[in-house]
Amino acid sequence: MSQSSKVDQTYPITASPQTRPVEDLEAVECCPSCGNTDRTALYGGLTDGRFCVPGRWVLHRCLGCESAYLDPWPTPDAIGRAYRSYHTHEPLGETAPARGVAGRFKRALRNDYLNARYKFDMHPAASWGRYAVTFLPSIRLRYDRMARHLPLGGRGAGLLDVGCGNGAFVRDATSWGWNAEGLDPDPNAAAFGQQFGLRILTGGLQQTSYPDKLFAAVTMDHSIEHLHAPAAALCEVYRILKPGGMIWVATPNLSSIGHDWFRAAWVWLGATAAPGPVHTRGPDFCSSRRRVREDRADARRVPRPLVFCRQLSSSKGSKPAGI
Ligand SMILES: [Zn+2]
Repeated sequence: MSQSSKVDQTYPITASPQTRPVEDLEAVECCPSCGNTDRTALYGGLTDGRFCVPGRWVLHRCLGCESAYLDPWPTPDAIGRAYRSYHTHEPLGETAPARGVAGRFKRALRNDYLNARYKFDMHPAASWGRYAVTFLPSIRLRYDRMARHLPLGGRGAGLLDVGCGNGAFVRDATSWGWNAEGLDPDPNAAAFGQQFGLRILTGGLQQTSYPDKLFAAVTMDHSIEHLHAPAAALCEVYRILKPGGMIWVATPNLSSIGHDWFRAAWVWLGATAAPGPVHTRGPDFCSSRRRVREDRADARRVPRPLVFCRQLSSSKGSKPAGI
């Protein structure tokens, strides 16, 4: 880690949100992903137009790993208040049945594609759905994203969804054959899923006490960018994954076409950075993974994660990429 700091003063710390109590905020000394102190101001005066979270925020970009992060950012105790209207924290509705002949037909095609590609066992399934969907790229991408690109290793394989919100994915994954459970720091969001009998714990990864090597897969759908200590979280994920287990992560991609085009108005800055969460990553979370390697003597066994960049990338494409 570099010891010299080249903090850009274009947007000094006085540009912090005026409508948040100062005790809710704390200064950030270094990049939360790689620990580098060199950075440049990316945007000042960011506001959240999607979830109407108050405040104006300053987003910096690390010159070491190109991750971006807020400074100041909400303290761990205060960050939950930024998510009161977050989209995953709405009541969980009943699973919608397929409507009409066309709806049942589409669902049968989808089921056969997912059964063939991800080893699910969903019914009813049209036996040629796998071929039809293969030639429909936009639909195939949507179904792949829905399954989070994770093949079911065996019926009842353990899956943990970190930052599961109301547990919608936990419910879906359970129906596909996973022995799925969730974890979310917000007890109100977790309660929605618990009402449906889903197994959801409240708290953070470091506060829970999952046994070693418990899960075949861990997913983090737009949750890693909200963590104050992403590298420590990945270490914990590694501890609870079985050998050969998979981690699937989705996070905003600052190298995406969307960000290139919209810059400060990019919706994923509004939804993930400006509300007061913590930081949004660059092309991937390589830097956090490197820290996992450095922090653990046996870190060469860190499983190769799947990274799904939610936005089209101008440099890497939109497919999942191993890092
Ligand atoms: Zn960094």
